[in-house]
Amino acid sequence: MRVSRALIPTLREDPGEAETVSHRLMLRAGLIRKVAAGIYTYLPLGLRIIRNIEAIVREEMNRAGAQEILMPIASPAELWKETGRWDFYGKELLRFKDRHERDFCLGPTHEEVVTDLFRREVRSYRQLPVNFYQIQTKFRDEIRPRFGLMRGREFIMKDAYSFDRDEAGARLSYQKMYDAYTRIFTRCGLTFRAVEADTGLIGGTSSHEFMVLADTGEETIVYTEGGTYAANVERAELLPEPEAPPEPQQPLQAVPTPQASTVEQVTALLRISPRQLVKTLLYSAGHETVAVLVRGDHEVNPIKLARLLGVVETTMAAPDIVTSVTGAPVGFAGPIGLRNIRIFADYAVKNVRNMVVGANKAETHYLNANWDRDFTVTEFADLRNAQAGDPSPRGDGPLRVVKGIEVGHVFMLGTKYSQAMNARYLDQQGQEQLAVMGCYGIGIGRTAASAVEQNHDAKGIIWPLPIAPFHVLLLPLSPSEAVTKKAEELYQQLTEAGVEVLWDDRDERAGVKFNDADLIGVPFQLLIGDKNLAQGLVEWKERKTGQVQKLAPEQVLALAS
Ligand code: ATP
Ligand code: MG
Ligand code: MG
Ligand code: MG
Repeated sequence: MRVSRALIPTLREDPGEAETVSHRLMLRAGLIRKVAAGIYTYLPLGLRIIRNIEAIVREEMNRAGAQEILMPIASPAELWKETGRWDFYGKELLRFKDRHERDFCLGPTHEEVVTDLFRREVRSYRQLPVNFYQIQTKFRDEIRPRFGLMRGREFIMKDAYSFDRDEAGARLSYQKMYDAYTRIFTRCGLTFRAVEADTGLIGGTSSHEFMVLADTGEETIVYTEGGTYAANVERAELLPEPEAPPEPQQPLQAVPTPQASTVEQVTALLRISPRQLVKTLLYSAGHETVAVLVRGDHEVNPIKLARLLGVVETTMAAPDIVTSVTGAPVGFAGPIGLRNIRIFADYAVKNVRNMVVGANKAETHYLNANWDRDFTVTEFADLRNAQAGDPSPRGDGPLRVVKGIEVGHVFMLGTKYSQAMNARYLDQQGQEQLAVMGCYGIGIGRTAASAVEQNHDAKGIIWPLPIAPFHVLLLPLSPSEAVTKKAEELYQQLTEAGVEVLWDDRDERAGVKFNDADLIGVPFQLLIGDKNLAQGLVEWKERKTGQVQKLAPEQVLALAS
């Protein structure tokens, strides 16, 4: 590509809006331009980087046996209502109506759409396991879009979804994706670490995040030196159960409750005053309303709480209903917050006698629930304030604490979505079985931005070769005939040898070209000047180290190809 013909609008000054290095440098190097908050156009160089990352991702997904498909960006509300996420997802889900007043959303993730595909098209155990992936534009109406491609509203994601016959198969599929992700981020030239993670809005039973290590990362990671433990601090770390619970004093008593009861009705029925013990919050998930009993004005994440309570099962159709060990539902809902869980767990441990639990549907409120008899409570470590040197919650050495950027996330989903959407296959005996699922995401643009965070200096970006927009930047230092001719010749030869060359053929001062070259960060620069050329030599400079070798053009060809 010739620079004179390309749109590479480099900026000499730092754009005011950019807070992080990657955002600043991606704007300055002319890779991206903002259209609206969190919404960007990829310019020619930026798009080449995106495409390079996509190519690596595609190769590794194919190698791992996943099949590429492409799902639509718009999806109908009906699918999202089946899983309850039409209500549960909140404002990140951008909704709109078509001309017939039908509800749609822009897909922030595709569990619903792909599970619908599965249940329509896949019938038999013989077709399993199967893994569908796509590289596609997602939309999430992020509350604070920022840092350029790092947290956009419209962004490119690779998302994959595996369907297996059983848990064991699903674990294998998960491991395959975990290994593929390890290869992908290694090939992208990134320094990263896979950590145990919380499952957030996607839900499921377990997950790992792939974190690029960078001081500007929004996430905090704790890990042990020996590598036996690594987790996002947001994860609730379960500890062994506390000892001997107090003796139960009264029998568990079901209390009839009407559908969709109010705070007043619930507290009246349960004979508690909100001030006496707890504050009752009502959470409406559209289908069922669940009473949340916590102390103070706090809301609790149902899935985490389920884990804390040693819960047997949660269902997506009623994501907020949590079943205790006796099968008695224990309810809670609301946004995530470890602090809230801590409060609830403290409360549960201290008030295990005659606790009130309930879901807001008929016959699902209980008085006198007792820990160990009716449910279990597990203590957990709150890692958010972990300091380097603290003991690991699993007793395997002192913790280290670093910052990271979440570039990838793999989830074991279990049957959460297949159950809610009735996605079944016929097993060998002709019996219908629920597919066991996993899902796996990689932020393509965020990976590009993370690479910049990890690879830059005061002058600009230093792209890792596998994702660089070009391999070599050809830089004629003068407009003389000899230099121009040699540049043209080398451009031809290198391009023919499969080397991607960006040729700065502009009629500009060498200083301007040098600055742009260093800013854009193509890994190798090939400098052609009159003086060296008179001796049959050109200069081969490594962007990263600044090291310059004087070589004959033939040597350059050998080196570059
Ligand atoms: P975050 O915690 O940063 O909000 P997430 O956990 O919500 O991300 P996932 O649902 O796990 O994201 O999506 C899979 C991947 O998509 C993430 O690991 C990340 O690389 C990418 N991603 C998510 N949100 C964004 C965004 N707003 N902009 C760019 N990439 C994103
Ligand atoms: Mg998010
Ligand atoms: Mg996350
Ligand atoms: Mg995530």
